[in-house]
Amino acid sequence: MFSNKESFKIAFMDRLVSIHGKDVGATTIADQYYTLGTMVREYASSNWVKTNDVYKNAKTKQVYYLSMEFLLGKLLKNYLYNLDIYQISKDGLKELGIDIEVLMEEEPDAGLGNGGLGRLAADFMDSFASLNLPGHGCGIRYKYGLFEQKIIDGYQVEVPDYWLKEGNVWEVRKSDKAFEVRFGGKVITNTQNRELTFEHIDYEPVLAVPYDMPMVGYKNDTVNTLRLWGAESKMKHVDPADLSGQSYYKVIEYKRRTEAIEEFLYPDDSTEEGKVLRLKQQYFLVSASLQSILERFKRINDNLIDLPDKIAIHTNDTHPVLAIPELMRLLIDNEGLGWEQAWAITTKTISYTNHTILSEALETWPINLFQSLLPRIFMIIEEINERFCTKLWDTYPGDWDKIAKLAILSDDQVKMANLAVIGSHSVNGVSKLHSHILKNQLMKDYKKLMPNKFNNKTNGISHRRWLLVANPGLADIINDAIGRTWIENPKELQELKKYSNDQAFQQELQNVKNRNKKDLANWIYKQEGLVIDPSSIFDVHIKRMHAYKRQLLNLFHIIDLYRRLKENPNLGLTPRTFIFGGKAAPSYYLAKNVVKLINALAKVINQDKTIKNKIKIVFIKNYGVSDAERIIPATDVSEQISTASKEASGTGNMKFMMNGAMTIGTMDGANIEMGEAVGLENMFLFGLKPEEVLGFYKRGDYDVREIYNQDPRLKFILEQLISGPLGREDADFKSIYYSLLHNDEYFVLKDFASYVKAQNKISFAYSNQQEWLSKSILNIANSGEFSSDRTIQEYSKDIWNI
Ligand SMILES: *Cc1c(COP(=O)(O)O)cnc(C)c1O
Repeated sequence: MFSNKESFKIAFMDRLVSIHGKDVGATTIADQYYTLGTMVREYASSNWVKTNDVYKNAKTKQVYYLSMEFLLGKLLKNYLYNLDIYQISKDGLKELGIDIEVLMEEEPDAGLGNGGLGRLAADFMDSFASLNLPGHGCGIRYKYGLFEQKIIDGYQVEVPDYWLKEGNVWEVRKSDKAFEVRFGGKVITNTQNRELTFEHIDYEPVLAVPYDMPMVGYKNDTVNTLRLWGAESKMKHVDPADLSGQSYYKVIEYKRRTEAIEEFLYPDDSTEEGKVLRLKQQYFLVSASLQSILERFKRINDNLIDLPDKIAIHTNDTHPVLAIPELMRLLIDNEGLGWEQAWAITTKTISYTNHTILSEALETWPINLFQSLLPRIFMIIEEINERFCTKLWDTYPGDWDKIAKLAILSDDQVKMANLAVIGSHSVNGVSKLHSHILKNQLMKDYKKLMPNKFNNKTNGISHRRWLLVANPGLADIINDAIGRTWIENPKELQELKKYSNDQAFQQELQNVKNRNKKDLANWIYKQEGLVIDPSSIFDVHIKRMHAYKRQLLNLFHIIDLYRRLKENPNLGLTPRTFIFGGKAAPSYYLAKNVVKLINALAKVINQDKTIKNKIKIVFIKNYGVSDAERIIPATDVSEQISTASKEASGTGNMKFMMNGAMTIGTMDGANIEMGEAVGLENMFLFGLKPEEVLGFYKRGDYDVREIYNQDPRLKFILEQLISGPLGREDADFKSIYYSLLHNDEYFVLKDFASYVKAQNKISFAYSNQQEWLSKSILNIANSGEFSSDRTIQEYSKDIWNI
């Protein structure tokens, strides 16, 4: 289509005119973005077809990664890099008077996810394709992604994110590959020739229509598929006689119910209606995906017994775990297999990743709600449950408590994590610590029953997106020092170790960091109207707002620092800029209050002339993937300060490490493995250890009052929340005050003293730039094992067998 700058220019102009019917001069940036996007999609499409043909002809085993979230962000720049046409496009556009950077900004962030779990799914897609592995995603094409966060008077306000308003250049709608998904109704049991058959009647059909997006590998001609399902009403189902009178409104209601399925990423589930909708979404994803997977399988293969050798289905957390009963349904009701055979195939095909031990995140559904929405699936779950409990009875005769705890159905609930463990062949955690806690605490009874199911796969991040593309300055100096092989094999970043004390390399690294910090400062000025000093330490805390992630602990340190500065304006302190970003769930009152607190504190501190700009606070509104790509390369200090044992892995921590930031963190999630890789002397770890936290929970003997009474700094800080300049805000920080002094569930007060010490160490370390840069280089050099390529290779070998 184009092979050099000149042919690119011709192709671009032709297309600009043919799509938009305007001269180049009259087109908008949006027109230009859309034009380049379609060119890139078509550029990739011959390899897309070829990749599918290769898989089909070789009957290659396929992996399907089912996830309710894919936090894709932008794709254009990554695809230009992966297809090796970035430079041609950039130069060509420049000659047409178009700045490619401005054009690329036009792409909306696809925010079809919440945070780490959704971003992980997106980085996995990148690794599948770049490693030439046959892995595809299955998800939902939400019309609205995660809400857009506005800040009004310091408060978070949620606005719908209509990311599709200008269309999505990457998707291809395939209406000929639609499937029907059925809700409600009832099941009739028939006996024919002494065989039971099940007939689902009076159901409401919904049409699942696939929108396929190409997942382009890095310079390797592989293009896999991310299939996002849209929901449409099935008008064939509607009797024309219904289109008048009262029935007309019933048809409209049916349409409304259907469209609701694809509307929002997270429907408000505080109501029964919202809960039903969320369950509907889960079954919609699972049923459409499995029907389409099975149909493709049957087109290419003869025998259903071979299914586990040809297909692996992975469920990202419990959200798609209805894949287990749905596959059973398809095999038994549609394909006529017997229970035992269907069960053997299903459990060999499906695997599951657990993402959290937070109890509020372990999904359950009220049985009555579940049964009326999915009657046949419920019957199958009952049968799975019954067979499992019968076996349990042999192991634990008479131990009803144990059986109730391990059953899928108990306490009037359907327990999704239990279904996941029982119906899959592999259960993995996402860091060594998290997997250890799963095996020895949360799921220890299952571990005894099924010792070989449990394993660990430490999360990873795409080093292509998070280093090569997000931080081209750093990538360039790495290439100059050690060559480009790390791009194919990120472990080779190890070669950089040799340069940790190389003064010339240190200088280059410092230059890159300074440039990135200046760029970020300019962007923050444009975005938030705030002037920050690029020579200050950029101390960054960006992630979802949640009590366990302890944004409060960070704020407490800032309040303490502010007090010290007020008492002694000449305090020898390297100026710091504290950067926060993150969304709070709309119904999470405490987290929203913390957003307000950050903004209230920012208002007080940023305006205080007496501290001579030594500290500044920035809250970046509407934090998303593109913000992360801009902020992380400019970061000096990475805040990874969750309550030990609570952060299953974290992936933000890895992105910062790979970009040379220093981590201040707890012994939690993947921080521990980062420490093993780089050496504890090159990180700033502090606070309670996971076993200490778990010990306090178990014994119930953490006395927050004792800590509070011992440390006058804490008294001062907490009083600010109710009576200082912060307390005089119209906001209600009392709830924070009381929740901390009530039981301080996340040990903010307990870890405060050791956190402040670690922060002081950081200030001291930063003043010795040579040593700082040497540590920074060692962090980059040892970050290769946190590439999602390593993670995907481990899943491929140990779980999916591809
Ligand atoms: C990486 C990433 C996350 C996950 O960050 P954690 O610090 O691991 O919680 C969340 N949101 C976005 C946009 C990300 O890029």
